[in-house]
Amino acid sequence: MIHYKSKAEIELMRESSLLVSDTLALLASYIKPGVTTLALDKIAEEFILGHGAKASFKGYNGFPYTCCISVNDAVVHGFPGKNELKDGDIVSVDVGVFKNGFHGDSAYTFAVGEITPELKQLLRVTKESLYKGIEKAIHGNRTGDIAFAIQEYTEKQHGYGVVRDLVGHGLGRHLHEEPQVPNFGKRGTGAKLKEGMVIAIEPMINLGTKDVYHDKDGWTIRTADGKPAAHYEHDVAIQRGKADILSSFVKIEAAEKANANLCSDYALQDPVL
Ligand code: MG
Ligand code: MG
Repeated sequence: MIHYKSKAEIELMRESSLLVSDTLALLASYIKPGVTTLALDKIAEEFILGHGAKASFKGYNGFPYTCCISVNDAVVHGFPGKNELKDGDIVSVDVGVFKNGFHGDSAYTFAVGEITPELKQLLRVTKESLYKGIEKAIHGNRTGDIAFAIQEYTEKQHGYGVVRDLVGHGLGRHLHEEPQVPNFGKRGTGAKLKEGMVIAIEPMINLGTKDVYHDKDGWTIRTADGKPAAHYEHDVAIQRGKADILSSFVKIEAAEKANANLCSDYALQDPVL
């Protein structure tokens, strides 16, 4: 059953989604070689609790942390841990918050230090594919229109693997609601999108093949070929004419840029012996 939201409910959801965005922006300023993913999780948890919200993922089906933090070949649902991030890694952080009775849910994949051009392109194309999907998230279209746009761009045009085992979803008073929002499929198929629906669109794109497996920890999804994967997620309210993106990457991208400048400033100041 699909739960349609009123305008007032969508504004409450925007608040939850933007709190997730602010959490990710805060983490962006900490992501650098040497930081542990467990430290990032603690920072996120304190920030969310400090803003009168609860972490949606903690305790969800027994998930033990605030964030899913997935490094390199981990696609999604990675456990934060004592492992330090290394220069050249990519790390996806997926966070949810519950506030005023509604969930927000968003994810972003970050570069750690300097990454290869191949990985830069994977991140760029995956993020672009999210917006290509969002363009189709309007009243009267179907979930398959979103799916097709994402698959066409990532798989057909760039030769990446689109994960089939996990999909985006409706969002609201529950973290996962109907309908499912896959990142692969045919135009004109799937659930009809109608005014008042809120969905999380989240392409999970592998540098190599589409195949994944479940890690022994019971949660982490990894690529079968061991190659890296990227993941971006926005919450979108369906409207007539234009998709309304409730979450935002603006502060995240600004923090990312400041972080990169800081690293290059440091490099400039470092004396050459
Ligand atoms: Mg998520
Ligand atoms: Mg989600």
